[in-house]
Amino acid sequence: MTKIAFIGLGNMGSGMCANLCKAGHEVRAFDLNAEAMKAAEGHGASAAATVADAVKDVEIVVTMLPAGKHVLAVYFGDDGVAAHAARGTLFLDCSTIAVEDAREAASKADAAGFLMADAPVSGGTAAADAGTLTFMVGGPEEAYAQAKPILDAMGKNIFHAGGSGNGQAAKIANNMLLGISMIGTCEAFNLAEKLGLDAQTFFDISSTASGQCWSMTSYCPAPGPVPAAPSNRDYQPGFAVAMMLKDLHLAAAAAKAAGAEVTLGEMAEKIYQDLDTRGHGGLDFSGVMKDLKRQLD
Ligand code: NAD
Repeated sequence: MTKIAFIGLGNMGSGMCANLCKAGHEVRAFDLNAEAMKAAEGHGASAAATVADAVKDVEIVVTMLPAGKHVLAVYFGDDGVAAHAARGTLFLDCSTIAVEDAREAASKADAAGFLMADAPVSGGTAAADAGTLTFMVGGPEEAYAQAKPILDAMGKNIFHAGGSGNGQAAKIANNMLLGISMIGTCEAFNLAEKLGLDAQTFFDISSTASGQCWSMTSYCPAPGPVPAAPSNRDYQPGFAVAMMLKDLHLAAAAAKAAGAEVTLGEMAEKIYQDLDTRGHGGLDFSGVMKDLKRQLD
């Protein structure tokens, strides 16, 4: 049993916190949202009044926050985690943030005498609730070893991707590929249909041929072939356009900073930006298919 502070009990954090409680850990929960706090108490966590109160006497601090600015403020702002946690406490940030922000946080933690790991997740709220997330961890071996049993309680696949920020790097590179492959899959299904093939026939062929990819076989954007896919419920998420856009912005910024060419990544960013600007940020990211069929305003 480990004493854990869990900060950020939103769509993802709520289920993750519940799974830590279920695994027998002693969890002190904190969120700015009172309803989220109530739900965490219902799952067996104890409610903390402030960040300072949450991190008192814990061994690990887990955060699941919206963006880098929240992560840096919660850990290193006035009255933040670093100001109140006991020396030796591990900082484990599971939010999706910029590689640069993750590295800045790790070096600030190091300067203050704490170990920190970035551990962003793949898998949505269903995986968070079920405890089947994939974690990509960046940080020193010692931090990874300490985090592993905690991550095991919240996820199914845990990878050590290397030093600080490498978890975020793996996450955004993967999601950039996902955005690109989803758009490509939508274009292929739309083309096949226009040329006279029905979706199932094209799926049967392409899913066993060289066009096969996750966007097709697990998340087919054309209704029919993959019953659980959002395409069968009018593209309700799932994984929303706005979320994909966040990850593509992070990928584009990281690519710029690293001098990596990401022509298709930038095109994907533009396509999802356009959908978001037109008011479709809440649509599942496979809804590009709907747009290709001219079914969106
Ligand atoms: P969310 O907005 O539902 O939850 C964030 C929570 O953080 C909110 O409850 C908010 O009140 C709380 N919060 C914000 N600032 C705070 C502060 N200063 N102190 C305490 N609490 C604070 O977001 P989410 O969907 O749970 O996503 C969290 C992270 O996980 C994001 O970085 C997101 O990109 C990433 N992610 C989300 C999904 C998904 O499907 N939702 C999938 C993978 C990764």
